[in-house]
Amino acid sequence: MAYLGTPTATAQVIKKYGFSFQKKFGQNFLIDANILEKIIASAEITKEDCVIEIGPGIGTMTQYLAENAREVVAVEIDKNLIPILEETLKEYENVSILNEDILKVDLNRLVKEKNDGRPIKVVANLPYYITTPIIMGLFESHVPLSSITIMVQKEVADRMQVGPGTKDYGALSLAVQYYAKPEIMLNVAPACFMPRPNVGSAVIRLTRFEEPPAKTQDERKMFSIIRAAFNQRRKTLANALTNGLAYTNEEGKVIHVSRKEVCEALEKMGLSQTIRGEALSLEQFARLSDLL
Ligand code: SAM
Repeated sequence: MAYLGTPTATAQVIKKYGFSFQKKFGQNFLIDANILEKIIASAEITKEDCVIEIGPGIGTMTQYLAENAREVVAVEIDKNLIPILEETLKEYENVSILNEDILKVDLNRLVKEKNDGRPIKVVANLPYYITTPIIMGLFESHVPLSSITIMVQKEVADRMQVGPGTKDYGALSLAVQYYAKPEIMLNVAPACFMPRPNVGSAVIRLTRFEEPPAKTQDERKMFSIIRAAFNQRRKTLANALTNGLAYTNEEGKVIHVSRKEVCEALEKMGLSQTIRGEALSLEQFARLSDLL
């Protein structure tokens, strides 16, 4: 089977199987070999690696992964793509195809089965409509993984990388930076896909930390505070937390904080009582969470 990463090869497969693109699944297939090679290089795939690919499409990137990794598990939601994948990937004995919704797969179990529970790598040209739940799901469920190398909307890649005091800074930036080191590897133009998306794209690599860079006693509480702070980002942190924090502790009890408690904590941290959440770093959110 020839490589699929060209406009002609992709168009031929689409035609042969009478495949119609489904917008609801975020289907934009890569048709640029140069970009595909750069993604594989960015992910630093070796013959030791077990890779999970989310959304293989017609198998374009899967071919490259199969040649470079020890084993590839490709999870595709669209059942119409399964017979295509069986054909385009038939030469590769190290690929398994699962017809599942990635958000419903028990990835911890999969990693145990396929890689004895050792860290895997995730590589994907993601369906953009579920980028955030996919990334958060991977991190929060503590799936053993060493890195995630993914194509996302350019704007989302920027959001994952920025620090306090910028307009793109938010809950996603903090969550990603708590678990991993983000690096934008390359920008990708709409012309590299079939059909062309309406937005620019970027490949970002998230290298999982062994230990989070900020220590907190209760991760869940810290993320509830972060979410409340950015849900009402134009408000002062004291207002946003007094009105918006709904944190359920391990015994299932809903905890609220008073304005006084937030102001006292801010004072202990040497921060102004009128500060907004968007000005706080990850370390400061961790400290605030422990103080409240
Ligand atoms: N990897 C291919 C490529 O680069 O050409 C296709 C990428 S396309 C942007 C996204 C793929 O994810 C599509 O094949 C789509 O059907 C699949 N997909 C969408 N939602 C999914 C989900 N919840 N679980 C698994 N796959 C999904």
